[in-house]
Amino acid sequence: MVLPYEPEFQQAYDELVSAVEDSTLFTEQPKYKKVIPVASVPERVIQFRVAWENDKGEIEVNNGYRVQFNSALGPYKGGLRFHPSVNLSILKFLGFEQIFKNALTGLSMGGGKGGSDFNPKGRTDSEIRRFCVAFMRQLARHIGPDTDVPAGDIGVGGREIGFLFGAYKQMRNHWAGVLTGKGLSWGGSLIRPEATGYGCVYYVEKMIEKATNGKETFAGKRVAISGSGNVAQYAALKVIELGGTVVSLSDSKGAIISKNGITKEQVAAIAAAKIQFKSLEEIIAESASVFSGENSVEYLAGVRPWTKVGQVDVALPSATQNEVSGDEAKALVEAGCKFIAEGSNMGSTKEAIEVFEANRASGVWYAPGKAANCGGVAVSGLEMAQNSARVQWTNEEVDAKLKDIMYTCFDNCYQTAIKYSTEKTEGTLPSLLKGANIAGFIKVADA
Ligand code: GLU
Repeated sequence: MVLPYEPEFQQAYDELVSAVEDSTLFTEQPKYKKVIPVASVPERVIQFRVAWENDKGEIEVNNGYRVQFNSALGPYKGGLRFHPSVNLSILKFLGFEQIFKNALTGLSMGGGKGGSDFNPKGRTDSEIRRFCVAFMRQLARHIGPDTDVPAGDIGVGGREIGFLFGAYKQMRNHWAGVLTGKGLSWGGSLIRPEATGYGCVYYVEKMIEKATNGKETFAGKRVAISGSGNVAQYAALKVIELGGTVVSLSDSKGAIISKNGITKEQVAAIAAAKIQFKSLEEIIAESASVFSGENSVEYLAGVRPWTKVGQVDVALPSATQNEVSGDEAKALVEAGCKFIAEGSNMGSTKEAIEVFEANRASGVWYAPGKAANCGGVAVSGLEMAQNSARVQWTNEEVDAKLKDIMYTCFDNCYQTAIKYSTEKTEGTLPSLLKGANIAGFIKVADA
């Protein structure tokens, strides 16, 4: 059920419902219809006040939320977002997406999401810590390793998870795997920071392999990426490792465009400065030597990269929701882009998805975030497993499991799209949009 003034949730709901309705699923299995009204209402929505003290000794007040959307498959699982745009529509859409994304990992996790309209930009470490402690003071009673296991999202990284975890442990006086994305020395998993970006690239590897009958790989491909946070950084590093050329990154203020390819050193400089919420413009100015020379970048203020990147083969929106408009999608298709996979949640607008899907017959292939970016929460699931078993797997073990989950997720989306398709066009790539939504839905509906 969509309430008034929930445009983001409405969009996520419509995407799922139209995918399952426009398939043979309901004609073959009418009982599944009953699941839609059940799965579209959160099991529980918690809203709380977060009152905290800033560095001047003043009290500030923010809204805190946790949407415990669906626990059919396991404990509620999903990130916390700290961003001024956070409201219930955003968290309901993210929680709803998370249910089906988590289902696509094949692991036992329900779906949830939470966060606050707190803006960490421009805040000191101590302010962020005091905010996290105050936030956890309210959240602690609602979470637990078998109840609800939050993690990070926009504005919540390793530092914030550390403050939140410390607060939980002090309050409860027991160590529990109640958050994921923890530091390595206190229960975290190797490869968790890399997981969403790496996983997205592993998913696209399979798209390229399938679409070209194994003839092509990332090697030699030009790849446009948006965002410059955790997802974009590790997607870029994996693309570079596989021989692709990363032609863009961006933040909320502008984009950097690189003809010869963004380098690993440039990504490292961005990663180090983004923890302090510095803008790309500031980072380039402060590390001028890293961003000049053969691999110099052009900074464009106030734009997203999609219309500025020139010829590209792959686009990985990895910033935030609705970051590709219909016109930008057209520009990407005209620039020769064949593979679009979302590192962000609902990165494309409805109009952009229509453009990508309309061009599927000519070889344009779109993968929605709930499939392409499920690697992050998948390794969160692996972190939970390691915490329960009191073990720590190696880099190689976790990376191999992540790869396997992403490849299996791709096969599941691909096969499900073919199985329930109403399209009759032989030789056209099946819709991963439909495959992902239907496969996730079936798993939750069965549970
Ligand atoms: N925020 C991430 C996502 O959107 C990760 C969630 C998690 O690890 O629980 O999937």
